Amino acid sequence: MLKVLDTAVPIACWSCSIGHHDSTLFCPHCSKIQPPPGGDFFRVFGLERGFQIDLPALEQEFHRLSRKVHPDRFARAGENEREWSLADTALLNDAYRTLKEPLNRTEYLLKLEGAEIGEEHSGKDRRDPSRVPDDLLEEVFDLNMQLEEMRMARKTGDEDPDLQTSLTAAKQKFEGLLEAVDNDLRTQWRVWDAGDTAVRRSAQNTMVALLDRRRYLSNLVRDVTETLGA
Ligand SMILES: [Zn+2]
Repeated sequence: MLKVLDTAVPIACWSCSIGHHDSTLFCPHCSKIQPPPGGDFFRVFGLERGFQIDLPALEQEFHRLSRKVHPDRFARAGENEREWSLADTALLNDAYRTLKEPLNRTEYLLKLEGAEIGEEHSGKDRRDPSRVPDDLLEEVFDLNMQLEEMRMARKTGDEDPDLQTSLTAAKQKFEGLLEAVDNDLRTQWRVWDAGDTAVRRSAQNTMVALLDRRRYLSNLVRDVTETLGA
């Protein structure tokens, strides 16, 4: 689990000694560079936690801050400041990469909010990533049979165009289901961003389940693509 500071801690600036919140790359009083701040990636960009992000604004802020902390600007600064410019740059890159990509951002924020997601949390109890979602049992069973047939046919050099067509159709269908999951995720983003604690809790649970489904579907699509392209 990520360790998160819920509220930024007030600390004293190393240079001017005036207190500020530990969530900023630069002292608001003397503008000197600060050690990598605590808090989460949202605070690095001065944002409230939320699933929906203004991407052009995020990109602009990333470039603005990147220029400000760039190590070239600290070539003649003291050892601490040089070190912090490197560490702040690394933090900024991590934060930007995580927040700009929708799935990374979703997983990151869910973890910040205490949700247990990903393969490391499934399998041992209620969620098993290899478990077929109930509504797909029949289709997945058929698909696995066809995949097996296809692999056998490949081995014997016995290509079956009908099988190829049918697998291609299955791949498109599962890709469509993936898109539907992404749409559902975006709906839950809006619900969470606008909701109170109870609403957020329930949206989080829905998102965790959607991510499990998404992982399952993308593994399926990957298997079919690999078998078709072999
Ligand atoms: Zn200062």
